Amino acid sequence: MTCTLHVAWDERLAGYDFGPGHPMAPIRLKLTMELARAFGLFHLDGVSVEVPAAATRAELEFYHAPVYIDVVQLAGSGRLLGPDQQVLTERVLLMHGLGTEDDPVFPGMHEAAAMVTGATLAAARAVWTSAAHHGASIAGGLHHAMPGHASGFCVYNDPAIAIAWLLGQGAERIAYVDVDAHHGDGVERAFWDDPRVLTIGLHEHPGSLFPGTGYATDTGGAAAEGSAVNVALPALTGDAGWLRAFHAVVPPLLRRFRPQVLVSQHGCDSHRDDPLTNLELTIDAQRAAHAAIHRLAHDYADGRWLLTGGGGYEHVQVVPRSWTHLLFEAAGRPLDPGAATPGLWREYVSLVTSQAAPDTMTEGAPAEFASFDDGYNPADPVDQAIMATRKAVFPLHGLRATWPATEPIISRVKPPAPREPRTSMSAPLPALMSSSTTKPCTALTVTDSGRGPSSPASTLSVSAWAATRASSVRASSSGYTATPLR
Ligand SMILES: [Zn+2]
Ligand SMILES: [Zn+2]
Repeated sequence: MTCTLHVAWDERLAGYDFGPGHPMAPIRLKLTMELARAFGLFHLDGVSVEVPAAATRAELEFYHAPVYIDVVQLAGSGRLLGPDQQVLTERVLLMHGLGTEDDPVFPGMHEAAAMVTGATLAAARAVWTSAAHHGASIAGGLHHAMPGHASGFCVYNDPAIAIAWLLGQGAERIAYVDVDAHHGDGVERAFWDDPRVLTIGLHEHPGSLFPGTGYATDTGGAAAEGSAVNVALPALTGDAGWLRAFHAVVPPLLRRFRPQVLVSQHGCDSHRDDPLTNLELTIDAQRAAHAAIHRLAHDYADGRWLLTGGGGYEHVQVVPRSWTHLLFEAAGRPLDPGAATPGLWREYVSLVTSQAAPDTMTEGAPAEFASFDDGYNPADPVDQAIMATRKAVFPLHGLRATWPATEPIISRVKPPAPREPRTSMSAPLPALMSSSTTKPCTALTVTDSGRGPSSPASTLSVSAWAATRASSVRASSSGYTATPLR
């Protein structure tokens, strides 16, 4: 494929930094861009790497409540943190999801988060104006942020803001595909009742992972039934099951919907080594997913593709390789998975992390799957998840959940071998709460009364990682009512 790619990148994007020990460490971005640079991305024909401008306040207000932006600004400036205002400060911050273990306040938070959104907007602009076929914002994909509060390491919701901007430019059909292990609740909520935006998420089942939403039966508001699509995959789903689910759900819907722009969020925390989730993918399956999404952009969206990063908390072995594959895929020059990683990059990794870098760009997995259309196994938990989604939304798009070719048969895909779930940060929620080795994390109760999908049954933060953070603020219940979007 002949593709041109606009990469919105600046070292300042690494300023989005919640501090030492936080999983969302900016080193993951630095190692990614250094790996891409070492492979020569910045000098490829058709690739432009440009410094984005920060999002303006007016742009942030496409999605966020003005009062929330005020609080983020004040908190990051330190002006709310006077000793005589301590109690008020904590209450006000917690009302807006800030000062929590997941989203602690850091100096310059507003400016850093506005830069991330600015990068995604710059990439969106490049795509919409046809300056490039594809636009990449690796620092972006902060899909949990809500109109009036931070959530899950996300302060401003750059994908939602970029989609809102595209709609404002006159786009009439936008598809958003989110392959992060966590449900993209903030983006789904933004367009819950908007038939112009089709949001599709493949994520770990909400029963075992933050944010506790994203069931197959959540299909969009009354004005936009079928515009939200959720594939809730069981914990421990691996390459074959994940790819089978992706291909059973995403291509038929995009073929039908025909978006003018495809927006995708490439959180790579679905990897088997990610410390916060329970999916079991390899780099090779993630690379296959990047390639499949690229192909779909050309097949059904006239090549207009805006891609972002997202979650991903194994900073050395996973994120740099997964997203370097993504960037080269988007440049139309996919890397050979068997390629050795550049020696200079390995030295850099060793220097800044004291860890051994991976030697090659592959984990040697075949990334193969059996097509759902050749038959499915009603007893297989992945096939059950696929069927639940197809039954919930396919008829709303004039598609059949099953047809003669997909009569139940004993699948050629073996169910994943049973394994004990991990018990620390990545444990399923009930185990996480009862684990004697893991302190329960902040329970910030959010009572959203605005429209949107059903609230999560549980109010856990993304992780229990902050159990050792001495400075963390604990919240019991804020009683916060989120501001409706529009
Ligand atoms: Zn392309
Ligand atoms: Zn995630």
